Order: sequence, then C-alpha cells, then structure tokens
Amino acid sequence: MNTDIERILFGQAQIAGAVQQLAAEIAADYRGKNPLLICVLKGGSVFHADLMRALDFPVEIDFIAARSYGMNSHSTGTLEILKPPSADISGREVILVEDILDTGFSLAALVHTLLEKKPVSLKVAVFLDKMLGVQKPIEADYKCFDADNEFLVGYGLDYAERYRNLPYVGVLKREAYNGN
Ligand code: 5GP
Ligand code: MG
Repeated sequence: MNTDIERILFGQAQIAGAVQQLAAEIAADYRGKNPLLICVLKGGSVFHADLMRALDFPVEIDFIAARSYGMNSHSTGTLEILKPPSADISGREVILVEDILDTGFSLAALVHTLLEKKPVSLKVAVFLDKMLGVQKPIEADYKCFDADNEFLVGYGLDYAERYRNLPYVGVLKREAYNGN
C-alpha cells in the first residue's frame, strides 16, 4: 500500500466486482443502442476505462473536460468547458461517466450544458456517490458505491494531481496534505 494512505476503502477486487455489476445494469438498458460513453476528465478516466471493457456490446467513447467555479447551494455557478466532446451528441444515447457525485453542482451544470446539444437521452454513471441524504440538483442513474464524506484518492481521484494511479480507493494520511 502507498505509505501516504491511511486505509483502503475499496480494494481492487471489490472495485472490479462493482464495475462488472454496474456494467450488467448498463448492458440491460443499452445493448443494441450504441451508447456514447463520455468520460469526465480527469477523475473519471480510470472508471471509464474499466467500465467500457466490462460492456460486451458495441459502444463509442468520448471525453469532456470542464472547470466549475462559483458554485454554491443556491446556484450552479459557471461551468467552463475546457474540452468539448469531439462527437456530435445530438441524436445519441449518452452516458456521462464521472468519478464522484458530491454536492452534484458540477455534474448538474455539465448535464445542463450537454442537453442543449439535444442527445436522445443523457444518463449519469458515477463511481462514488457522496453526501448521502443531502438533497442534490442531480442524482446518479448508475453508481458503484456510496461513500462517507471524507476525502478520497486513487482509482482516478487525485490530491494535487497525485494518487490517480492507485488501483484502489483510499483515505489520505493527514501528513500527506501538510507535506505538500
Ligand atoms: P460536486 O458534485 O460537489 O460538484 O463535485 C464533485 C467533484 O469534486 C468530483 O468530480 C471530484 O472531482 C471532486 N471531489 C469530491 N469529493 C472528492 C474526494 O473525496 N476526493 C477527490 N479527489 N475529489 C473529490
Ligand atoms: Mg471531477
């Protein structure tokens, strides 16, 4: 285990099982529909890569990068699209693939922006769902795990761009924050 990690929350085998299970749900809904799986960079990249390979029918992939700021509990703030999807999503069955649904404000803004392009459908698949029991502007259509409100790294999730490559999800030690 990486020495900056306090404890592992979701290990590799557990993650692999959850992704397979989620893929089965998505397959039941999308087989034969050639969905477009849009990865929300960078955090969603590992989940996206695993999820697409767990789907045993034709899919297409794309990527989007956005930066959100000015978000609070009263507004969705501003969303700046740093990299739009390269595919034309109008008329497509789209699944947005994201790392974490936390307050939901960034995903809600992203969904709002993408809906303007008139996809046939737009659903959201997240690896982790946080802030359980809190009203959010958007809910996940598909998710692998629920998580408590602590800061997590690994499996695509970073702290200051580090730890994304850890194959598990873990809680950072306090000194790993202070040491940077
Ligand atoms: P929200 O849903 O609040 O708009 O923001 C969700 C985003 O915040 C996620 O996509 C992720 O980038 C970031 N985030 C939320 N919780 C965590 C966490 O525990 N660890 C990391 N690394 N990022 C988080
Ligand atoms: Mg993110």
